[in-house]
Amino acid sequence: MTFAPDSRTVTSVVASPNHDARGAKADILLLHYTGMTTDEEALARLVDKDSKVSSHYFVYEDGRVFQLVSEQQRAWHAGAASWKRATDINARSIGIEIANPGHEFGYRDFPDPQIDAVIALCRDIVARHHIRRERVLAHSDVAPTRKNDPGEKFPWARLAAAGVGLWVEPAPITPGRTLSANDSGPEIEKLQKSLARFGYALEITRRYDDTTRSVVTAFQRHFRPERVDGLADPSTIDTLRRLLAA
Ligand SMILES: [Zn+2]
Repeated sequence: MTFAPDSRTVTSVVASPNHDARGAKADILLLHYTGMTTDEEALARLVDKDSKVSSHYFVYEDGRVFQLVSEQQRAWHAGAASWKRATDINARSIGIEIANPGHEFGYRDFPDPQIDAVIALCRDIVARHHIRRERVLAHSDVAPTRKNDPGEKFPWARLAAAGVGLWVEPAPITPGRTLSANDSGPEIEKLQKSLARFGYALEITRRYDDTTRSVVTAFQRHFRPERVDGLADPSTIDTLRRLLAA
């Protein structure tokens, strides 16, 4: 069963059976990397009935854009996920898989033709659906304990310069008080509350627990990619403060 592409940037439609009725308005744009050795393998999985996974779009390294699921349908790309306390992220998002072997199979820079295609596609989607800048997210943002895609090599600043996604210049990395595993107290509570206010799913435990470390890591991958270590250093905390104020 095929369908008409939703975006003029689409090169081909290759329909995936892995979708169902949406049941909510799409107000999140969610970006992934494929995390597989070859593009053929990645695409085959996203259209295989038995895999139960899909995405709306697939962007090759050479810039070709395939559409796999109509935007009207709920594609199955996010899995267990949460943002701003909403948990059915598939129902309220449009998902783009961006070809890259990922951290497991040789993570590499995203080539320019691919990023140009991602930007054109994203601009088209956010304009048609009126998706807010701060709701263009990484898979790792909505599933920080499970996922690390599209990762710290993804050029979020370039997307933001083209009007896609929220970005502030990261605060410079400087020495100073750094919160890390097993710390506890009011500073951790403040950090956890700020991360939760921004949208991340975490409990306010006042302890620098595993979830807090995962969320800080996800935050760094997206917003302070120069150093991804899961430690809340002054630059990380200040970058979060700048984003909340933006
Ligand atoms: Zn993903």
